[in-house]
Amino acid sequence: MKKRGDEGLSHSVQDYLKIIYMQTQNGQYTSTVAIATAFGIRSASVTNMLQRLAETQPTLVVYRKHHGVKLTPEGEKEALQIIRRHRLLEQFLYQVLEYPLGDIHDEAERLEHVISPFFVERINTLMKSPAFDPHGHPIPDRDLNLNDSRKLALLSELQLGQKGLVRLITDRYTDFLVYLTTIGINTGTELKIVQTNSYDGTQQVEIVGTGQLQVFSKAISESIHVELV
Ligand SMILES: [Zn+2]
Repeated sequence: MKKRGDEGLSHSVQDYLKIIYMQTQNGQYTSTVAIATAFGIRSASVTNMLQRLAETQPTLVVYRKHHGVKLTPEGEKEALQIIRRHRLLEQFLYQVLEYPLGDIHDEAERLEHVISPFFVERINTLMKSPAFDPHGHPIPDRDLNLNDSRKLALLSELQLGQKGLVRLITDRYTDFLVYLTTIGINTGTELKIVQTNSYDGTQQVEIVGTGQLQVFSKAISESIHVELV
């Protein structure tokens, strides 16, 4: 049985908790393969890590060989703490240090592992407890509650002619974010569906106000969350 010391969780354990949290928001277990794909590593390495994680005290994950893995309440608390650090850092980097939007995610990924709880709370106070990060993700509050009462739909769910305001863009893929910024799409941008292809899920989208048209693959449309207008 491996004991956790005072030095806290290792960077890679923190990354695992975060990815498991993201992949189990539907309440289901996530699989070794899904985690391996997200990290771009071999499934065997993930299995090793999950086995070790499952034996750590206090227990952070429930790992069942053929079901996959999910977080214990303790693991979820740790994951939310990391997510809070990440999103507060992104807001700080963007608003105070004026980082380009495309650079904040990678920088926050590095810093989230090393800043102290005191640093986190200083940022929070300086930023006046922001509710959302620059991509539109809700920031867990000090008690780790996610307060998000927005009613959002995926862009991919919109029908022909429907319009939506961009409220959240998944920040997992930096290249994708940079791409969206260069074509003028950010939180607050209004989009209208002008053509849909049911056979492959691509959509042609108009950036309202500019008349500019873009064709989005299903994957892109599923990464953009909008508020219907
Ligand atoms: Zn991020």
